[in-house]
Amino acid sequence: MEEKVIIVTGASRGIGREIAKTLAKKNIIIANYNKSEKEAQELKQKMEKKGYKLEIYKADISKENECRELVEYTIKKYKKIDVLINNAGISKTKLVTEVTKKDWEEIINTNLYSAFNMSQQVIPNMIHNKKGNIINISSIWGQVGASMEVIYSISKAGLDGLTKSLAKELGPSGIRVNSISPGIIDTEMNKQYTNEEKEEIKQQIPLEKIGKPSDIAKCVKWLIEDNYTTGQIISINGGWVIT
Ligand code: NAP
Repeated sequence: MEEKVIIVTGASRGIGREIAKTLAKKNIIIANYNKSEKEAQELKQKMEKKGYKLEIYKADISKENECRELVEYTIKKYKKIDVLINNAGISKTKLVTEVTKKDWEEIINTNLYSAFNMSQQVIPNMIHNKKGNIINISSIWGQVGASMEVIYSISKAGLDGLTKSLAKELGPSGIRVNSISPGIIDTEMNKQYTNEEKEEIKQQIPLEKIGKPSDIAKCVKWLIEDNYTTGQIISINGGWVIT
């Protein structure tokens, strides 16, 4: 099967890194990073040692011009983009009364505006090729809301809205768009939790465990192989939230 050209945003650490590693086995990966240069270089070296095609690209995807440059670079080099995975994201835990305009801009621009910009940039190429696949890494908090994570929840609810609208608009062009909505996954994003707090969370989850980045990466792989799923919000949360 032909190698796919896949952009993964926020691939230096956590879920994005695992997605990039999983997909690198059979595809060409543009692994985006911003601050974690060392981790990104290490990922590149590991993948190259295995003979996989993964290159790293520094861009702050909260900025429109940096999204555009990342996409232009990829199209110039590979002529096509088969899959865009909007994974990069940040969270901040604060009372709503303490949230600032700067918090709003940082979280919305990184989690939502970036996905809109990246999608807008790749879509003309996908329409030209009459195929494409956009996968947004959302969150259960976009579906059910999180106390003290109001902006984060808004950003993820917006991301799910983006998924549904784009799926309708782009389906006739052969482009599928889906969200994966994780529950709690063991990454640095959850480093604020103590072991005791993690145990309490586990007790609320029917499968009694915290997810692994590979649980999300497997679903991404499946969504790429599939050809009839679009506009869906796929929950991977151990049963924590069942809607
Ligand atoms: P993480 O371990 O904190 O990693 C975040 C990644 O996003 C890093 O690679 C980081 O890159 C990148 N990133 C952040 N801001 C960026 C920017 N402006 N430009 C480019 N890259 C940027 O987080 P994670 O847990 O893997 O989260 C990945 C996605 O899953 C996020 O969208 C998150 O909201 C979602 N999610 C996570 C969980 C969870 O429990 N972990 C649950 C639900 C949803 P640099 O370090 O290089 O800047």
